[in-house]
Amino acid sequence: MSISFEIDERVAGIARRTAEFVRDVVIPEERACDGDVHAGPEPLRRRLQEGARAAGVFAPHVGEEFGGLRLDLRGQAVVFEAAGYSLLGPLALNCAAPDEGNMHLLEVVATEEQKARYLRPLAAGEVRSCFAMTEPAPGAGSDPRALATVATRTSGGWRIDGRKWFISGADGAAFAICVARTSGGPGDPGGATMFLVDSDNPGMKIVRNIDTLDHGLFGGHSEVVFEGCEVPDSAVLGEVDEGFRYAQVRLGPARMTHCMRWLGVARRAQDVALERAADRSAFGGKLAELGMVQQLLADSEIDIETGRAVLWRACWELDQGRSAAQHTSIAKTYVSEAVGRVVDRAVQVCGALGISGDAPLSRLYREVRPFRIYDGPSETHRWAIAKRAVRAATERRETR
Ligand SMILES: Cc1cc2nc3c(=O)[nH]c(=O)nc-3n(C[C@H](O)[C@H](O)[C@H](O)COP(=O)(O)OP(=O)(O)OC[C@H]3O[C@@H](n4cnc5c(N)ncnc54)[C@H](O)[C@@H]3O)c2cc1C
Repeated sequence: MSISFEIDERVAGIARRTAEFVRDVVIPEERACDGDVHAGPEPLRRRLQEGARAAGVFAPHVGEEFGGLRLDLRGQAVVFEAAGYSLLGPLALNCAAPDEGNMHLLEVVATEEQKARYLRPLAAGEVRSCFAMTEPAPGAGSDPRALATVATRTSGGWRIDGRKWFISGADGAAFAICVARTSGGPGDPGGATMFLVDSDNPGMKIVRNIDTLDHGLFGGHSEVVFEGCEVPDSAVLGEVDEGFRYAQVRLGPARMTHCMRWLGVARRAQDVALERAADRSAFGGKLAELGMVQQLLADSEIDIETGRAVLWRACWELDQGRSAAQHTSIAKTYVSEAVGRVVDRAVQVCGALGISGDAPLSRLYREVRPFRIYDGPSETHRWAIAKRAVRAATERRETR
């Protein structure tokens, strides 16, 4: 098995243009709004996306037939990290969550009619979308099998009833991909179906926007109620009762694209810390000459490099068409925690400046924390990693 992490010229060119665009156009916009886009300012989104189009870096993950650049995951890893250098870079390139994961899911699972109606305008940045899976207790969270939202058959299609929360980007989205139970009951490992629900459906209501630590996800996170929400048969995404399987189709790569974007944030935090350590004088020299500061800086370099290595390995596995569940769990756990450590160390190196609004670190700090919770909390991934490792060891022993 030979693994290639070579970056071809095309990807390198897109990454370079992305880095320049982020530095010259996106970071000034991020500064102006303090990275706070929970209110979903449409003119800002339009302006940023126009800029990305002009720079030739728009929608790097989507197929050319939908106006994208069709990079594989290894190519995305390079470009998304460059975009992630600003909190608003992924929004500008139209590769931010949850739209980017939804585009991937629609590209793989949707019918041609569904692609024309939902994927095409989403990929073009004309509309936004959301993905509605998580529910208040006792419903679906880390354990998706607890899914309590139900979809029951009607004469012309389905009726969805249930409550979802922490649905990113729901406020202002044109449609939701809603996961509902079509057979079995809470606790059953199957029986979920995905539905495309237009947000002007009178049965779908945003009941509140949740106040959260982070402010950088466009539209924020909402609580959404589906009540007597009638949809036609054509709203079913893929096959009935296959929703949990499709969730994995979305989540494997979506976890990795989160890692790519957040590695960009880590690199930016570390660059701020390096600059400060090289400039700031203390105790007769520069901070960068003090051993304990060097340790902070070195540990962050190690975290970024190691995070990138496990991420690229998982991307390579996915690019080969493998499920790569173990590799994606390892990468998600490592990167989500490493990014938090890197930003935290950068704050420490910068002293009081680090927690002020004068440096970008305080806004990066609040954004990275939730990543240890969504797309599977660290504990859930560790639990799954250990179970797979034990199973593999048992199988090896039995075949000896
Ligand atoms: C910023 C943000 C954005 C989000 N966006 C979306 C979205 O767009 N759409 C959507 O559907 N959901 C979204 N979510 C929800 C997210 O997917 C859930 O928070 C996540 O699945 C965890 O579920 P929970 O919050 O109910 O935690 P719970 O399931 O209640 O788990 C709580 C804690 O229990 C522990 N735990 C869980 N499982 C195990 C285990 N097996 N072993 C040991 N310990 C364990 C972990 O410490 C975990 O943090 C978002 C969440 C956040 C924070």
